[in-house]
Amino acid sequence: MSTNEPIPPHGGTLVDLVMPEKEALQAAKEAEHLPKIAIGRRELSDLEMMAVGALSPLTGFMGEKDYRSVLEEMHVENGLPWTIPVTLSLDETEAKRIGGASRVALVWDGNPIALVDVEQIYRRDRGAEAQSVFRTTDTAHPGVAALHEAGDYLVAGEVRVIRLPEHDTFGKYRLTPAQTRAAFVERGWRTVVGFQTRNPVHRAHEYLQKCALEIVDGLLLHPLVGETKEDDVPAEVRMRCYEILFDNYYPKDRAMMSVFPAAMRYAGPREAIWHAIARKNYGCTHFIVGRDHAGVGSYYGTYDAQKIFDEFDPVELGITPLFFEHSFFCRKCEQMASPKTCPHGDEDRVILSGTKVREMLRAGVKPPMEFSRPEVAQILIDAMAQQQGHGLDPRALASPGNGS
Ligand SMILES: [Zn+2]
Repeated sequence: MSTNEPIPPHGGTLVDLVMPEKEALQAAKEAEHLPKIAIGRRELSDLEMMAVGALSPLTGFMGEKDYRSVLEEMHVENGLPWTIPVTLSLDETEAKRIGGASRVALVWDGNPIALVDVEQIYRRDRGAEAQSVFRTTDTAHPGVAALHEAGDYLVAGEVRVIRLPEHDTFGKYRLTPAQTRAAFVERGWRTVVGFQTRNPVHRAHEYLQKCALEIVDGLLLHPLVGETKEDDVPAEVRMRCYEILFDNYYPKDRAMMSVFPAAMRYAGPREAIWHAIARKNYGCTHFIVGRDHAGVGSYYGTYDAQKIFDEFDPVELGITPLFFEHSFFCRKCEQMASPKTCPHGDEDRVILSGTKVREMLRAGVKPPMEFSRPEVAQILIDAMAQQQGHGLDPRALASPGNGS
């Protein structure tokens, strides 16, 4: 690898499953006569990620051997690290209807969006999948709950995509891995750190992004905009927060923002690995893993998502994780710090509980500027006022600790 060449994608090849226009037109016609499977939002996210190469080297939905191997070994059968099954679900009626068809059309919003060459239909092992991926079978876990809503059967096969899903949001931020890679090269960035988030960026998150940026050439803020649980902050609100931060506090030649179309699994440690691999495909050389990455409730230990990286050979992962502790502003240090760098006690640190931040925002009060940039706080206060008007759950707007 010469010094200005981007990091190789996972498995060596950046996948592109989108058919050329002429082929896509033919495929759309063919789809009219094929058995159809209507897909949901989560599968649409996976399909889009696979189509653009974010899930390289996957070129289709996993067969049973890979599925088992991912659950049991955290690697696909050929030995490549992989921690989250990427599957296409069917219920029993659909499985019977598809029968022995060798090709099916995936339908989204009434239109055929992709063709799958069916290699196998097999039964999902729901208990093993929940326990392996989520470390729990508790249906109160949002990932386990989604797993229980999904069908009992899985269709495996190579995918060809007729058209990418259309989005009416975040258009200019929807860069494919090929596009982010090109953007990094254009900026002359040889090393790039990716930051995953599904929450507003408070000072603590800004601090660790900038700590990371001190040692690499560029920062990719890569917020997840696929499906999240209902009490997570809506993506539009988060994007407004990121934009104002970028405008005011980030150097334009060192930081860029793009969106990550994945749906959240809340699989904690395994999802941290999966997020890192996907960011490698987007061209990142480093990836920030904070406390409780992709966690939910108290299903995972605070640093489990960092510890899991020890179970992989750094070479096989190919992207360097950067681990961070909880950070805060310390009045004695007079700066942002973490337990690693600050010797003082909680009485000197600006630490607010999620409950406290929510109360403040709900009352229209900005948290201290050492906790949250006033511009960000204002967006959250406005969003919370609007949400309360719509009866939505305002809980997540605070989320002081977990940036991912
Ligand atoms: Zn201190």
